[in-house]
Amino acid sequence: MLSYRHGYHAGNYADVLKHSMLIQVLKAMQKKDKPYVYIDTHAGAGAYSLTDEFAQKTGEYLEGVAKLWDHANLPSALADYVETVQHFNAEFDGELTVYPGSPAIVDVELRPQDRMVLHELHGTDHELLENYFIEDKQAKVIKGDGLQGLIAAVPPLERRGVILIDPSYEMKTDYQDVAETIIKAHKRFATGTFLLWYPVVKREQTEAMLTLLKNSGIKKQLRIEQGISADSDEFGMTAAGLWVINPPWQMDVLAKEALDYLAPLLGGADGSISVKWEVGE
Ligand code: SAM
Repeated sequence: MLSYRHGYHAGNYADVLKHSMLIQVLKAMQKKDKPYVYIDTHAGAGAYSLTDEFAQKTGEYLEGVAKLWDHANLPSALADYVETVQHFNAEFDGELTVYPGSPAIVDVELRPQDRMVLHELHGTDHELLENYFIEDKQAKVIKGDGLQGLIAAVPPLERRGVILIDPSYEMKTDYQDVAETIIKAHKRFATGTFLLWYPVVKREQTEAMLTLLKNSGIKKQLRIEQGISADSDEFGMTAAGLWVINPPWQMDVLAKEALDYLAPLLGGADGSISVKWEVGE
């Protein structure tokens, strides 16, 4: 039984990092005219209201996207990100009122020759997602397990693809399943760009998953992580990151610039940032 709803967390500090880097990966894909596929294994509802009871209950977006909202001279990845979120808020006179999830963000980037495959298992969020894309022929919305869906979707016909794996990690087995699925998917589609989002709640649990990937023999693995506080045994997420396989050229540079800016803005005094090639060429 799934209970996680991204509406409580939309636009938080983890989304800022995840979505700003996702946009940069898409922009890099667009440097060639050849089509690509975007595969979202855990898509969520598509887009979120920030005025509804979910967002208002936690107020997490106030500690995330809202802190960047009227900043000028942002590093380029964050400027692109804020511009994207602003696009969705244009109809609200520029007031931060709605927040695009990964499917909505990709939707505005997708060119006519590209397509996306979105998986969501939660009944309510699947329905919202399906309605969001009801008239969109480029988007295929699947109600089903995203990890199984990923294996079924690769290699894509286009031979170019971006895969976001963004689980809610509600089950203990998720960590291992995610790593094993990525390794399997990479065997079938070694040139795809895989973005795995991960939380740090218990550091050992997260690192066990990442170590499986690191020791898999897969090349080009980049860690991009922001800690808002030090690792702790208390309950709660202290850091969040993206583990990127086959990142585009200069993603490390863009990520470092973004995190240097975000660290004092979103992180606490004992926060941290890390941009590290865990496996090279
Ligand atoms: N990717 C979204 C974004 O960036 O806007 C957020 C996704 S949210 C972190 C994770 C989603 O995965 C939740 O909506 C949850 O219902 C869904 N989910 C959990 N287990 C799943 C599974 N096995 N397959 C597909 N979706 C799943």
